[in-house]
Parts: sequence; C-alpha cells; structure tokens
Amino acid sequence: MEQDIKEILNLMVSHTASDIALIEKAYQFAKDAHIEHKRMSGEPYLVHLVGTAKNLAKMRADPQTIAAGLLHDTLEDTNTTTTLILKEFGPDILFLVEGVTKLGKIKYRGIERHAESLRKLFIATAKDIRVILIKLADRLHNISTLEYVRPEKRTRIALETIEIYAPVANRLGIGQMKGALEDAAFPWAMPKEYGEIIRIQNIKTKEAEKRLEDVQRILRKKIAKDGIAGFKSDFRVKHLYSLYRKLENHEMNIDKIYDIAALRIIVPTVEDCYKTLGIIHSTWTPLVGRLKDYIAIPKINGYQSIHTVVFTGDGGIVEIQIRTQKMHDEAEFGIASHLAYDELGKPTHGAIVGKKLRWLNQLIDWQKTVKGSKEFLENLQTDFFKDQIFVFTPKGDVIELPGDATPIDFAYAIHSDVGNHCAGSKVNGKFLALDSKLKNGDIVEIQTRETSRPSSKWLEFVKSSLARKNIKVSLAENEEIKKKINRN
Ligand code: MN
Repeated sequence: MEQDIKEILNLMVSHTASDIALIEKAYQFAKDAHIEHKRMSGEPYLVHLVGTAKNLAKMRADPQTIAAGLLHDTLEDTNTTTTLILKEFGPDILFLVEGVTKLGKIKYRGIERHAESLRKLFIATAKDIRVILIKLADRLHNISTLEYVRPEKRTRIALETIEIYAPVANRLGIGQMKGALEDAAFPWAMPKEYGEIIRIQNIKTKEAEKRLEDVQRILRKKIAKDGIAGFKSDFRVKHLYSLYRKLENHEMNIDKIYDIAALRIIVPTVEDCYKTLGIIHSTWTPLVGRLKDYIAIPKINGYQSIHTVVFTGDGGIVEIQIRTQKMHDEAEFGIASHLAYDELGKPTHGAIVGKKLRWLNQLIDWQKTVKGSKEFLENLQTDFFKDQIFVFTPKGDVIELPGDATPIDFAYAIHSDVGNHCAGSKVNGKFLALDSKLKNGDIVEIQTRETSRPSSKWLEFVKSSLARKNIKVSLAENEEIKKKINRN
C-alpha cells in the first residue's frame, strides 16, 4: 500500500475494508487524472489532494467525503467527466465533487460590508455541509503552500480565508479549522502585525506556561483526591490571529490578556466540571467577572466549557477551562464531530426540516438535535436557504433577495429610482425578461430609461415586499398624474 494512503487511513476515526478500498480507488483515480499536473511549488498535484484528504480525516469526515476530497479538482482541472465519476464512484461522491467545483467560483473582492452575504452565499451554494468541509480542507492546504503563489493573488486568498472561510468554519463550530485557517493566512494578510504578535507570543507564552505548570501540578492532585477519575489536563496556547484580534480590542496591551495560554481540564461528566470549578475556586481566588459558564449558556456556535481566571498568589493570573470530552470534540471538530459518533437518537425528519430558523440557529439546532450519523448526513442539505438567493451587481456587490426573485426585485433592491425606471435586464451578460427567476450567483445588470414606468403586471411576479411596496406607490402616483391631466 502506498505511504500516502497509509497516512490518510491512520488519521481516520475508523475504517472498514470497503472504506479502505474506496480510499485506495479514489487515490489511484486522482493520481491518474492529474498525472501531468504540477503545483506552483513544482510538486506533483497529487500532494495537494492527499493534503486535502488528510485535513478531512483530521476533521473526522466520513470515508465518502475523504474520497471526494481526493477527487475534488478532477472536474475543474482535468478532462475527467461527470459521467465517469458517476460510473466509478456513484451519485453521492459526484454530488460532493460538483459542489466543491461550484463553490470555487465564489470570490471575495475585499469589500468588507459584503463579507456576511458572501459567507451566506458560500453556505447556500454548498447545499451540503460535507461540501463545505472539503472546501475548508482544500483551502487549508492551499493556504499553507501560499509562498509559491504570486503576491497580489496571495494577499487576496489570505484575506478571503480570514473574511470568509474562517468565519464559516467558526459558524460550523470547527474551532480547530478556524484557528488553523486564520493562523496560516495571517502572515500573508498582515505581515507587519504578524511579526509583532510572534514576538509578543514568544515572550509571554513561556512566562504563562511556567506558571500554568505549577497550577496544573497542584490541581491534578486535588482533582484526583476528590475522586474524579479519568480526567485529562493540558495547555492550550491561544492561536496567533485570535491573540491579535484580542490585543486589538485591548489597545494592544498584553497585560490585559489572561488567556495567552490556558490550562485545560477535561473531565468525564458535567457534574465533574462544576466539582472541578469548586476545587479551583476554593484553592485560588477568582477574578471578579471572569467566570464564564458556557455549559449552562453555550456560545452561539454551540461551544461549551467553563472558563475562569484566578490569581495564583505569586502575582500571576491564569485562565483555566473545564469541559467534558464530548464538549472538547465538539469544540475542535464542530459539526464534523457528529460524523464520528454512533447513532444516539433518532429525531424525526419532519421535525428538523419543518422548522424555519435563521441560518445560524438552524445550524446549531442541527448540531444539537441530530445525533445519529445517518440521519445527520441525510439532513445535511442546507435547504433553509431555499427561500433566499444571493446575486451580484456588475461591480461585485452582493444583493440578498427572496427565492424566485426577478430582475425587478433586484432593481428595487439597488434603489427605488432604478426600479421605477427599469426597462430591461442582463443576467450573466445575456438579455433576460424582467419576470425571469434569478439564481444564486447570477450577475445582474439593469437598464433604465427615463420614460419607463412600473406596470401593474409586475405585481404578479415580484417576490420582495420592497419591490411590491414601491411599485404600488409609483402606480398610485402615476394614476394621480393621469387624473390631473384628464381634469385639465
Ligand atoms: Mn484544490
């Protein structure tokens, strides 16, 4: 067996004989398809595909997703056809590979106010969370080989990673991926700030770790004495980019940052978490206002843990985080962590699909309610976006519209004058009727004419309340004008 395949398999949570066969087949297929293809670094292209597959395995993705990770660039970069992938790997893997190919077309052009819409467009286009996982794994490998890319492109990719990819990973609760993406993009996006943070971190982390070691030694004894068996403890060093963001919020004053390094305690049960907190607070004095109980009140992305900051008595201050193993896995792997769990419960299909929630809440609810991996996969379709589409102006501004919206809706979303004088529309460079249905990612251009006026027919097909309201106002005004003319 090839070394690459062994390395991928070693990172996987579990694999059956058929899983191994699938990975081997996808690997060989990708190797053949990209045989003449090289990376900017001069390495064989296969290196990127294996890197992507390994990132997926680390995120605990399922074997099909990992196989799709190996195949993710075949449609875009080789003459492999969809028919061939369908024949060799079936409809699921083809769906994933096609999804990743589509997602590659969404680009961040550096306009910050559109970043949120782009993140939503990203999720909506993906249609399936596994597609997003592959795209994140792909980006993580690309960003770690950015030195070979030309400078302007490098900066764009680095900013896009920080503005779009990392927040999407964060929304999905994949803390490990968010941190890795940001830290890999940071030096390319902000070289000066990066250098400064590295310098600060080198000095401060060493100081903090020395102190944490003492606290850890004392605490381990006390926890064991209190009868909590099977606990683990380690240090977590704050990711560089998140340290930078935090410093920015504290006037770059490092003395105000207590969690540059933190002690992390992992215990078996929630009760043990609170017991441990009791032990900590009866040993060291906590800082007022620094206790955060994210177990009772989870963060919006589902994150759970107890954080507390204590005085160590020798002039030092340390942060301690307490959580269960399950909370830990969810914090590191987020939505992907469920893929590794066995079926624990079976919520009914309708209970999930029927709920109409805002995009974020819905993701979190899925994370909480869908425990079984099979149901989980079936429910991964991001159909909560079916009522919403994202289209672009010719300049790349993102406009959010209701599903089945038309160029008229788009025109009113730009400005009521544009809507009121709308005479024609071009979608993706082609003239299209004003009642055509727009699709995600369409680039829409409106032609206006001074003499054009809204027609009452428009009310039959517009979808946004904004357009409807403006059309009615304009029709009433025009009616008034007509009456006046008739009276005179
Ligand atoms: Mn790729």
